[in-house]
Amino acid sequence: MATAAATQVTIMRQHLIDPEICIRCNTCEETCPVNAISHDSRNYVIDAAKCKYCYNCISPCPTGAIDNWRHVRAEEAYPLAEQLLWDTLPAQIALDESPKVGAGDTANEVQSQATPLPDDVERIAAASTSGQGGIAPPPWSAAHPYVNLYSIQKPALATVSGNFRLTAEDASSDIRHIVLDFGNAYFPVLEGQTIGVLAPGLDANGKPHHVRLYSVASPRDGERPRYNNLSLTVKRVTSDHEGAPVNGVASNYMCDLKKGDKVQVVGPYGTSFLMPNHPGSNLLMICTGTGSAPMRAMTEHRRRKFVAGENAGRLMLFFGARSHGELPYFGPLTKLPKEFIDINFGFSRVPGEPKRYVQDLLRERGGDVARLLRDENTYVYLCGLKGMEKGVEEAFTEACRANGLDWGTLRPQLLQQGRYHVETY
Ligand SMILES: Cc1cc2nc3c(=O)[nH]c(=O)nc-3n(C[C@H](O)[C@H](O)[C@H](O)COP(=O)(O)OP(=O)(O)OC[C@H]3O[C@@H](n4cnc5c(N)ncnc54)[C@H](O)[C@@H]3O)c2cc1C
Ligand code: SF4
Ligand code: SF4
Repeated sequence: MATAAATQVTIMRQHLIDPEICIRCNTCEETCPVNAISHDSRNYVIDAAKCKYCYNCISPCPTGAIDNWRHVRAEEAYPLAEQLLWDTLPAQIALDESPKVGAGDTANEVQSQATPLPDDVERIAAASTSGQGGIAPPPWSAAHPYVNLYSIQKPALATVSGNFRLTAEDASSDIRHIVLDFGNAYFPVLEGQTIGVLAPGLDANGKPHHVRLYSVASPRDGERPRYNNLSLTVKRVTSDHEGAPVNGVASNYMCDLKKGDKVQVVGPYGTSFLMPNHPGSNLLMICTGTGSAPMRAMTEHRRRKFVAGENAGRLMLFFGARSHGELPYFGPLTKLPKEFIDINFGFSRVPGEPKRYVQDLLRERGGDVARLLRDENTYVYLCGLKGMEKGVEEAFTEACRANGLDWGTLRPQLLQQGRYHVETY
């Protein structure tokens, strides 16, 4: 691989607006602190020489049209005059085929989005969404996700910049918050997407281990805003689904990583389990264990907007665990303002207390759940153990019945409208 120094070529990440999706609402132009955005009667455009990558314009955009990026050679950035004529965004050019390229790690690794997903990922993703009957469309206002930028043949190399235990020391599960830093590599993710991890070593057949997927737990602007990093919520697997002792390959590898260690990452993946971006959109989130990862990403994205004074929609969270100590993110969640998020915890193994699962909480709050479901701006997310799906569906059925709705009619409508998303594993 040539280096930037050797070839004197600079690859930049150019910020662009998708003319097909943009509704010309002018929000971004009003938001940009450096007047990088302008428009004519046809298109909204961004001046590459002025954009400071502050990301101020990203979350206010109601359509996600503003959240588009292309790697280009700095001297060949798309000029304003050309952008003003576009009807569609240009595809990512294959920088790695150019003899001029040398900026190294990032651009050389960018894959065509037409590259098929690895078989493992197709299979695992299909299984995880089987509860909703296959991949559903994303919310209409979701930002455009990038997928499959890094293949198994050319993974990105991330550096561990943090790894700490989220569950209590005496809890039965060791769930960790792991922060990965991508340095100069281009690795854009949205809340609800997953990344793949390639654990080192070989399996029992002498082949490299298959890809394991992990949900991104940080918002699109990073675990630490504007640093090129993301976080994961990883549970150490020490027994199989039947309870027999086993050391899970990737989860133990991940949980044992130390600061500074390098990890091979592929992806990102996921075009469906994405959050809406339009103002006033509500999130109804239901999760157990590490199913909290995408909910944490979405909640944190909305929290940052809330702190910035933006009025987002309503957030309602149902979170199940054995006890307080087993619940990842318990502490930070309890500190969130009530007017920002309506949180319902269900604990199933607290001595002296009755067992409460997420489905019980959904029933208890049936009236409020039904009120949210009636609102066409509500988007439902279900993530965690496969076993939770049945109980949650039954609770929705009951909550709807008791409040004049029919879940059997509503569910397919929600799915078709990209408003019901299930990811269980
Ligand atoms: C879409 C998606 C998102 C995911 N997101 C996350 C996430 O955010 N955090 C996370 O920790 N995991 C997540 N997973 C699960 C993750 O991909 C791995 O399956 C998990 O970490 C186990 O991998 P392993 O290599 O350690 O275990 P393996 O070596 O693959 O499996 C060891 C044994 O344990 C069993 N097993 C596998 N997973 C579990 C489990 N969770 N509980 C009990 N037994 C199990 C296997 O059947 C096998 O018998 C996700 C999976 C999918 C499909
Ligand atoms: S905020 Fe989004 S939709 Fe509105 S003009 Fe800008 S890019 Fe277009
Ligand atoms: S990222 Fe910042 S500087 Fe760039 S266009 Fe958006 S608001 Fe303007």
